[in-house]
Amino acid sequence: MAERNRKDVRRILVEKRDALETKLSIKTKAVIASGTDNEIKRVLGDSADQADQQNRDCVEDSLARLNSETLKRFNEAIRRFDEGIYGICLDCGHNISIKRLAALPFAARCRDCEEKKENSDSQTKKRHQDTPSFMIFGEEREY
Ligand SMILES: [Zn+2]
Repeated sequence: MAERNRKDVRRILVEKRDALETKLSIKTKAVIASGTDNEIKRVLGDSADQADQQNRDCVEDSLARLNSETLKRFNEAIRRFDEGIYGICLDCGHNISIKRLAALPFAARCRDCEEKKENSDSQTKKRHQDTPSFMIFGEEREY
């Protein structure tokens, strides 16, 4: 990938991630980020009058839920980018096609490996039912 393209890709990833994050959690995010009662009231309106620790916890819970799979995938993609392995299939190590990345910017596998994985997933679904979904990216360190 040319250097200019690489920068564009990262910017696009971050923009998409941020847009998604904003869309998913505009209210809860503002509450947590600001942390001030006035800001909470401004964002949530009258319903925040009773904002207490319990409500705050609820907000964080819903934020966690709202940080959906897709958002996680974007964050993973950005991390892979920073590690210099973005666009490289996690399984076979080949480049993921530009076309695929254009359609699925957070793709972690080439189409062949993704299909193979989906097939083996459906075969072993019962056995791995309790495997956390982020494990699909393998090599996790931070979770
Ligand atoms: Zn592959």
